[in-house]
Amino acid sequence: MNNDLIIGSHITMTGPDYFLGSVKSAISYEETAFMFYTGAPQNTVRSPLEKLKIKEGLELLKNSDIKIQNVIVHAPYLINLANTIKADIFDLSVNFLVSELKRTAAFGVTKIVLHPGAHLQAGKEKGLNQLIKGLDIAMDKDGTNVTICLETMAGKGSEIGVTFEDLAYVINNSKHNDRLGVCLDTCHINDFGYCVAELEQILNEFDRIIGLDKLMVIHLNDSKSERYSHKDRHENIGYGTIGFETLLKWAYEPRLKNVPKILETPYIDGVAPYKNEILMIRNKKFDANLKEKPDIISLF
Ligand SMILES: [Zn+2]
Repeated sequence: MNNDLIIGSHITMTGPDYFLGSVKSAISYEETAFMFYTGAPQNTVRSPLEKLKIKEGLELLKNSDIKIQNVIVHAPYLINLANTIKADIFDLSVNFLVSELKRTAAFGVTKIVLHPGAHLQAGKEKGLNQLIKGLDIAMDKDGTNVTICLETMAGKGSEIGVTFEDLAYVINNSKHNDRLGVCLDTCHINDFGYCVAELEQILNEFDRIIGLDKLMVIHLNDSKSERYSHKDRHENIGYGTIGFETLLKWAYEPRLKNVPKILETPYIDGVAPYKNEILMIRNKKFDANLKEKPDIISLF
């Protein structure tokens, strides 16, 4: 196994084994990184940490190819720090982020991916400034050192944080900018309008505007949609408009060597496709039958 590649997928965390179960799944897919939600992404119900078998999961990690710095938490997507329209939603978002940051730290995880949010009818500038305010309040309060990785979005509806310039604006204007980074999603930037095939230029641009040291996570996804579609619909590796060769370039780019690549591609017939997709990337060989034989990994 090529352990140089830091690659994994989104993994669900469910009972009875919770975090231990997530680690087991990631190992079974032969991953060297993975990402999980600490609870349902669409609501605020959270199981108490004592129930989540964190210690057991960390113990298993120690004897695996997955380093804890390559384990990532994804914040629930109902958090909208860019909301200036409803004060109660903004407050709820800030408080929920504080609790997620604390939960992330309890796993020993150092990075959480956060969607920058949506400005609703208020306009981008107000949204971005509100996001900065929300991030700063949360990082004043949480008492952790967890880095918040703002994700590049597709520009669906009134989503903010779609250009490198906007993300740089947020990072540069936060008083906790040392705790902010970026998660770049290849599907999202494609759907927004970047040409994902131009890896060299994109990284140069990212470096000039934000700084490559701030690029901390890659969401490696193909896209069902065309450039500029603003859709955000993920596709399996090599089956979408970005294509296998381009995604392979991203996976093996030397400048991104230490950045975990996380697949968030759709299940095939209810089965997680990650073991086979990662195998394709490791073998540098596209499998045109991927969607026909999901049973190979259904044992996991
Ligand atoms: Zn995301």
